[in-house]
Amino acid sequence: MILVGLTGGIGSGKSTVSSLLEGKGAVIIDADAIVREVQLPGSPVLSELAAKFGPEVLASDGSLDRQAVANIVFTDPDALKSLNAIVHPAVGKEMNRRLIEQRTTDHVVILDIPLLTENPREGLQGKIVVDVPVEVQVERLVRFRGFDEADARARMSRQATREQRLATADFVIDNSGGLPELEPQIEKLWLWLRSLPQLPSDYEPITPTPNGGPKVPPTDS
Ligand code: ADP
Repeated sequence: MILVGLTGGIGSGKSTVSSLLEGKGAVIIDADAIVREVQLPGSPVLSELAAKFGPEVLASDGSLDRQAVANIVFTDPDALKSLNAIVHPAVGKEMNRRLIEQRTTDHVVILDIPLLTENPREGLQGKIVVDVPVEVQVERLVRFRGFDEADARARMSRQATREQRLATADFVIDNSGGLPELEPQIEKLWLWLRSLPQLPSDYEPITPTPNGGPKVPPTDS
């Protein structure tokens, strides 16, 4: 297995890059999808969240009302700590389970983690950062994802800055152009990924607990 992280600010095009890499044959482990999965109705995580924050975090169909949780933790750092303490271990466990499943293969495994700069992870062979200017990020969120501009800017202000993210990058994808400009960069990225050494087949995934734990909500990407 070859193991790298992929990150980028909201609306940078991270999901677009991860789909293109999947098309090349990479295995994508998507942190956001795992967060949603471990919180599905019937999960121990959802029961714990309802016990901690009250029934108001449950929607009428019994699923998690992510906005209700976001509203609670936005102004309450202790609530955010509790949320992370409930959600992060389950996400880490599932991520590691999938890594262990891959470790005896020669696949390129991409850990797609929106908040990788904010919550660093050990044991990766490199980090790919999808980079765009802030104004492009805002424009795409408004135009393609239906965000209101103020909301897009507020979310971005709670994430690492472009500079902080770039400072951690081993490979930068410049997604400020259109899709035709992206494709040749994916070709180069794929060559780089394939050139990395295979990890040992007994590779032990590391559960990240930097500085006493993550500082940002797992649902806020
Ligand atoms: P992220 O996963 O980083 O939040 P997405 O991959 O969802 O971002 O991209 C945000 C939006 O911008 C999506 O609607 C996507 O289709 C669009 N997009 C991504 N890259 C480009 C590009 N190079 N040119 C035009 N639109 C793009």
